[in-house]
Amino acid sequence: WAKSEGRGRWTVFDTERNDREVARYTLSAEMPAALHHGEFDVDYQPLVSLADGSVLGVEALVRWRHPRQGLIGPDRFIGLAEETGLIVPLGMYVLERACREAQRWSGSAEALGAPAAAPFISVNLAERQCHEPGLVRQVERVLAETGLEPERLQFELTESQIMATDGGPLERLRELAAMGVRIAIDDFGTGYSNLAYLRRLPVCELKIAGSFVEGLRKPGDADPVDARIVASLVELAHALGLTVTAEGIETAAQAERLRAIGCDAGQGWYFSRPGPPDRIATLLDGVPRAG
Ligand code: C2E
Ligand code: MG
Ligand code: MG
Ligand code: MG
Repeated sequence: WAKSEGRGRWTVFDTERNDREVARYTLSAEMPAALHHGEFDVDYQPLVSLADGSVLGVEALVRWRHPRQGLIGPDRFIGLAEETGLIVPLGMYVLERACREAQRWSGSAEALGAPAAAPFISVNLAERQCHEPGLVRQVERVLAETGLEPERLQFELTESQIMATDGGPLERLRELAAMGVRIAIDDFGTGYSNLAYLRRLPVCELKIAGSFVEGLRKPGDADPVDARIVASLVELAHALGLTVTAEGIETAAQAERLRAIGCDAGQGWYFSRPGPPDRIATLLDGVPRAG
């Protein structure tokens, strides 16, 4: 039917679309070698207590240092890696690196005389990884090799992902939780949660999506609807016995409002951008800690 619309216009449209497809295909074809050659890197962003500013946990965020295209963010390649299945070895690579870093930080917390204050490490877990029968054994192996306690590891699964979890994947999450590994729901509020279902899952933390935090930008013109949504999400989480972290905090006003609402923790540029592991080590050394 493209011809009947007159040639020029539809040819241009198809070409652009085709270019995008080729770019996607090229990127996904390059990924296995990139993993092999160490082009993937992990940045870390702290999860901060809104009550006292201490670092409760740290999220691991993968990046691709592409030799020609420069730094590529995960939003451009995680979906592709899910499609091809490369997310399975890539996810394991991120997990290993993250656990190793977290173990180093506990060393520096211990040196400060506060071993209990060592932050947990939070790693995003893709749906495809939950379908791997060997997931639990692999996690056990990484914990054994790095010496990290299971209680110091958290997996983040998106809300829609967790709502679709059943059968083998659900059993695996339960096994991980039974080991002591923390499970968090990422981007909460963007999907459709079945509350009865939520109660059956071994979840211990809820992360409120940054899109709701955006409306709390300034004290004066904060969106009252967003404020009420966030307040009710916090209340809901606490009623379910979960802790709550708000994502995407960019201003002091947002942090203050969230603290006033009763939100437990925050993550965002206001506290720290994601950065290399040494930045986290410096941050931990600089934070005065109770013994
Ligand atoms: P996410 O898990 O919800 O991670 C939070 C995203 O928000 C990160 O984007 C982070 O850099 C960004 N962010 C943090 N603070 C702020 C802020 O104050 N303002 C704004 N506007 N953004 C902020 P990033 O690093 O681009 O990651 C995007 C998504 O890619 C992540 O969303 C996660 O779903 C996925 N991802 C990242 N690393 C991994 C991984 O190792 N495995 C899997 N499966 N997914 C990953
Ligand atoms: Mg996350
Ligand atoms: Mg998130
Ligand atoms: Mg996200």
